[in-house]
Amino acid sequence: MDLYEYQAKDLFAAHGVPVGPGQRVVTDAGAAGAAAAEFGVPVVIKAQVKVGGRGKAGGVRVARDGADALTTAQSILGLDIKGHTVRRVLVTPATEIAEEYYFSFLLDRAQRTFLAMASAEGGMEIEQLAVERPEALARVPVDPNEGMDLARAKEILASARFPAAVVDQAAEVVVRLWDAFAGEDATLAEVNPLVLDADGEIVALDGKVTLDDNAAFRHPEHAGLADAEAEDPIEAAAKARNLNYVKLDGQVGVIGNGAGLVMSTLDVVAYAGEEFDGVRPANFLDIGGGASAEVMANGLEIILSDPDVKSVFVNVFGGITACDAVADGIVRAFGLLGAVHKPVVVRLDGNNAAEGRRILDKAVLPGLLRLDTMDKAARTAAELAAKGA
Ligand code: GDP
Ligand code: MN
Repeated sequence: MDLYEYQAKDLFAAHGVPVGPGQRVVTDAGAAGAAAAEFGVPVVIKAQVKVGGRGKAGGVRVARDGADALTTAQSILGLDIKGHTVRRVLVTPATEIAEEYYFSFLLDRAQRTFLAMASAEGGMEIEQLAVERPEALARVPVDPNEGMDLARAKEILASARFPAAVVDQAAEVVVRLWDAFAGEDATLAEVNPLVLDADGEIVALDGKVTLDDNAAFRHPEHAGLADAEAEDPIEAAAKARNLNYVKLDGQVGVIGNGAGLVMSTLDVVAYAGEEFDGVRPANFLDIGGGASAEVMANGLEIILSDPDVKSVFVNVFGGITACDAVADGIVRAFGLLGAVHKPVVVRLDGNNAAEGRRILDKAVLPGLLRLDTMDKAARTAAELAAKGA
């Protein structure tokens, strides 16, 4: 889960990372004016959207007085930043910047370790810096078992060519940032810019945090950070039913049992779709080993509710749960769902396949097509999706 800047800064503050003298999130311009009056001007008004480059897009502006804060907030609220509509802004006392740095901790999946990235040249977009001046960006692996201490933090900052005069102070902040990163089970904690202010203090002026959803069970307190209005409604419905569902951008709904089978089904559908207007899989959905009627009905209902879906491919390989049980599940799922208005292509193979196929054929479910091989079924589902699109 990606967090908004204000949420990231709340987490930073809870771990002792300095984030400035205060912040207020508001959804209307009047409240922004009031916050400015309370904090004292100048204030910075910042669009809260889960996308970078807000500054360049006009989503970060300084307001000199209360009236200015109101009109500035007015102009930022409703702004479209890279497809994200600004619904709330952060109001915070403006910091006088002496220097801008960059610092982040992230999970480096390719290297199977954590990574610290740091640069004395912050403010600039880090992707650009990494390409144009890679030598200015230090990349230091962090062993999760060793974590972070002042000595290591100083080494990282020195290799990133932070000015010697700020290294000690910045190292304290880096250790606290690690504490936030590790303690909250984040996969990213980025500060750009990390600044040295006019008073000589190190402050995190921006914050970007991604929490590891797989660790959510360890953090019931994170539940409140979820953003219901920004979440994909189909993914939310799937999550509520404990389904392993990921929305993709195609037209063929996919259900399978077992993550590996579903992954290869996505490939086969994408390949077959090349012949039919380039249709592609619309989702990943693994209903797991059990595949009871209820789970099958839930899965079908979720997928059929997606307006992008033009056909569905149910791809099941019977294992411990034999095909006859899965076929029973499909028959009962159709019963539970009532009318199914999109074609559903089913391929059953593996344990008790013959009996499973017999059950499906006998049930004569409207809109259901049964095919014996994965390739044929994928082709048919792709063809039907192209016709229905
Ligand atoms: P981003 O563009 O989405 O990364 O948003 P940031 O929060 O990083 O803000 C963009 C830029 O605005 C920063 O790099 C700063 O240069 C500037 N900025 C943000 N807050 C302040 C502030 O309090 N004072 C000053 N002077 N500049 C700020
Ligand atoms: Mn930034």
